[in-house]
Amino acid sequence: MKNKSKYNRILLKISGEFLKENSKGNLNTSFMEDLVKQINLLLQYGVQIGLVIGGGNLFRGSDLEKLGMRRTTSDHVGMLSTVINGLLIYEFMKKCKIKVRIFSSIRLDGICERYRLDKVNDALDNGYITIFCFGLGIPFFTTDSAACLYGIEIQADILLKGTKVDGVYSSDPLVNPSATLYQKLKYKEALSEQLKFMDYTSLVLADEHNLPILVFDMHDPKILYDIVIQSRPIGTLIYK
Ligand code: UDP
Repeated sequence: MKNKSKYNRILLKISGEFLKENSKGNLNTSFMEDLVKQINLLLQYGVQIGLVIGGGNLFRGSDLEKLGMRRTTSDHVGMLSTVINGLLIYEFMKKCKIKVRIFSSIRLDGICERYRLDKVNDALDNGYITIFCFGLGIPFFTTDSAACLYGIEIQADILLKGTKVDGVYSSDPLVNPSATLYQKLKYKEALSEQLKFMDYTSLVLADEHNLPILVFDMHDPKILYDIVIQSRPIGTLIYK
């Protein structure tokens, strides 16, 4: 099918939390199935897809630091968690016959391909989903920063940040019932209002390189189709 979508190339960022089914930490295979169906549909429309997966269902550096571990080692553990998640999604997609490749920011011979922009661009042009894992490969960053950087490098039309809420609110709607949902938000506003849906490094990077970000609720099983193919106004768009 020809690409009729307004986006030719997208970078999808999903928190590792989506892979956790319950407090026992079982793998959420129904989420994986939904994700694969949604991605398959976009592929049929010729959309090129990069995917950054977080590690928050397993380990976050900041949580381990609170237990007394050094931050650098904690972040290494966090980044290794993204490799575990990346491999799980990779394997799931392979089983579903989706063309997929997995790249890591550091050498992980025999496990992932080493990230190199030309290789990734070739893979995307040839219809492969490209999974990016091990974040940026350096501590004190998050996979949101990695998503912004890879989104900018691969010249994605937009960064789609799938979350557990339907967009960015003026304050936490669970604490403040009169909190309002933004439909659009400028990078500078997001930074000055100190809205904590993404870390500052990511927002500054996106602002500097003009990468639009859409924050939306990833629970809806048709959401990617609605956003990418139907161009429905969903979630919160962060732009210049
Ligand atoms: N991390 C890091 N550098 C990076 C990306 C990630 O140190 O470039 C570490 C950091 O400890 C982070 C963890 O990996 O907490 C998992 O990533 P993240 O918290 O972004 O996962 P998510 O919340 O999206 O599931």
